[in-house]
Amino acid sequence: MKLTILGMNGPFPAAGGCTSGYLVTTDGAAVAIDLGSGCLGQLSRCAAPEGLHALLLTHWHYDHCADVLPLIFRLEACAQQPLHIYAPADEGSLVCKAVQNCTKIILHDVAPQTEIRIPNSEFRITVHAARHPVPALMYRIECSGKALCYTGDTNTVDGLADFARGADLLLADGLFPAALWAEGKPHLSAAHCAQLAKDAGAKQLVITHLNPMLDPETLLKEARAIRIDSKLARMGDTYEI
Ligand SMILES: [Zn+2]
Ligand SMILES: [Zn+2]
Repeated sequence: MKLTILGMNGPFPAAGGCTSGYLVTTDGAAVAIDLGSGCLGQLSRCAAPEGLHALLLTHWHYDHCADVLPLIFRLEACAQQPLHIYAPADEGSLVCKAVQNCTKIILHDVAPQTEIRIPNSEFRITVHAARHPVPALMYRIECSGKALCYTGDTNTVDGLADFARGADLLLADGLFPAALWAEGKPHLSAAHCAQLAKDAGAKQLVITHLNPMLDPETLLKEARAIRIDSKLARMGDTYEI
């Protein structure tokens, strides 16, 4: 598998940046996970969006799904077949309502503790509940004996280390420096991500959902105190998994 970081800011983009969006490809198949602001243009540099085997959304916060709106226009103009979007049910989401009204999208409601099989691909995807103010999921994508685990937006949640167990790459929401994290907040800290990677025995850790108002060096320093090889996500970076 190959992971491409389309965008990694949240909850809004840095100057010239994009919010959460990731592309996962393997021989002959491609899925995107989240499509935040600016990500459709980034995705289009790598792959035709209407050719995706699926788009997985962790949740319907705008920094993870904003570019689904212009994607609807692109699909209406270009798609021969409907695009399959997998996401948690969230009746309160305006973007979800727009998706439900698009004839070029098939929307699948996804529940935690389920498995998704993407037609015509070898991807096997398992789903875990995140802890966030709206219904939110995390995804573990496996293919050819390799595993990528993406937490989406979450704070600490039971079973997280088991869900990430042995992942070849853990992509984790580490928005907060330790000083700003609290039990009731919507995200993990960078240090939590590093501890999670250590506990789960993940082979690589990439910390994402970087807030433009917070110092990335602090996050990196705090993560590397626990896990020396911690990395921060950067737009356009690719990882072989
Ligand atoms: Zn977010
Ligand atoms: Zn969120």
